[in-house]
Amino acid sequence: MARYIGPVCKLCRREGEKLYLKGERCFTPKCAIEKRNQPPGQHGASRTFRKKVSDYGIQLREKQKARRIYGVLERQFRRYYADATRGTGVTGAVLLQYLETRLDNVVYRLGFASSRKAARQLIDHGHFTVNGRKVTIPSYLVKPGDKVAVVEGSRKNAYFAELDKGLKSARTPGWLTVDARQLSGAVMSLPTREQIDTPVKEQLIIEFYSR
Ligand code: SF4
Repeated sequence: MARYIGPVCKLCRREGEKLYLKGERCFTPKCAIEKRNQPPGQHGASRTFRKKVSDYGIQLREKQKARRIYGVLERQFRRYYADATRGTGVTGAVLLQYLETRLDNVVYRLGFASSRKAARQLIDHGHFTVNGRKVTIPSYLVKPGDKVAVVEGSRKNAYFAELDKGLKSARTPGWLTVDARQLSGAVMSLPTREQIDTPVKEQLIIEFYSR
């Protein structure tokens, strides 16, 4: 599975805002945006002051931001968009639904990982089951009624053993429920647009792809 392996704080600096890609570090003064909020590269500082951005530029940045938040490469993102246009729902909302129902996002939203990137690694390493079956594909799409749980043999790991406290304080979205004692969660429904707090304007993404 292809994935971005470069420096992640650079992605936030490119978008000019916190994308929360590094878990706890994002909430500390060590965050690169707190220290130096300017686009990366030799001429990054001068780009900060460039005023006029075309409509295309605005749409492109919004699409890149969404891709980076969810850690999805262009080809897969475009595929989600194509699938979203085929359905009957509002394309932007359906696109976000695809991104939200990825297993790596669900593991993150349930509080089992501090970032989507960390969630991907845990899934890669075989620590999760969906409906009792081990799943090692971070892009696996969950459905209403699915149960996501930590593999029995992984529960004694120091990481999961200490997770209990963090899970209780995690803000689980309304379309998911979490059982901190059982280290599991359930998908109650597909997320509505109101239940998705990701700061992206999906309309701009749709405009980008439908040019
Ligand atoms: Fe982005 Fe987090 Fe790095 Fe800050 S610490 S720049 S929010 S990834």
